Amino acid sequence: MNYVFEPCSQPAADVVGSDAKFPIRRVFCVGRNYAAHTREMGFDPEREDPFFFIKPADAIIPAKEMPYPPQTKDLHHEIELVVAIGKGGVDIDEATALDHVFGYAVGIDFTRRDLQGAAKKAGRPWDWGKGFDNSGPMSPIVPLAEAGHPDPKQKIWLSVNGEIRQDATLNELIWKIPEVISIISQSMALKPGDLIFSGTPAGVAAVVKGDVLTGGVEGVAEIEIKIV
Ligand code: MN
Repeated sequence: MNYVFEPCSQPAADVVGSDAKFPIRRVFCVGRNYAAHTREMGFDPEREDPFFFIKPADAIIPAKEMPYPPQTKDLHHEIELVVAIGKGGVDIDEATALDHVFGYAVGIDFTRRDLQGAAKKAGRPWDWGKGFDNSGPMSPIVPLAEAGHPDPKQKIWLSVNGEIRQDATLNELIWKIPEVISIISQSMALKPGDLIFSGTPAGVAAVVKGDVLTGGVEGVAEIEIKIV
């Protein structure tokens, strides 16, 4: 293929136990998927239909250092279980949804909360609050062959400078992973390489330059990120 300039390199994530990388296609994120977090954001966690937003594939970076982004004074952490899709599909049944999973990772859905809040108030899109450069630091992907599917009893947690901020278990997810996969596939054709950030538990708060964040999902992966 002949291009008018060199195309950008394919965004990709490391895979535990493999030299091969996982090529990232799209990044779907579930909003308000833990009841206590929904309440802390000022909403009623009734089981209404889930909603989604998208980050660019190249917002996903290795979890090491994250540059503090421009135009915000309120950068929030959101620790999340990430589902890596290995097999695409349309109108996927809940019963077979997990057959589409390649593996799992842990990521942080960083949010410019002040920009998101202004967008909400004005009825505008969330992209500037959610989809900025480097907004999705993520661990390597753990393939099913290494660890299987996470048990709902497993903990999801995040601490900042050693102090616990987010602490929950996966069974607090309002929409479970098979439901989320099925629902997305009714609106969009899921493709191999798609990632799903499954939502964050309560305890989101601001970070500043120099903070060190550690977090993880028990039995999946842990991450450590410094804000620089
Ligand atoms: Mn989130």
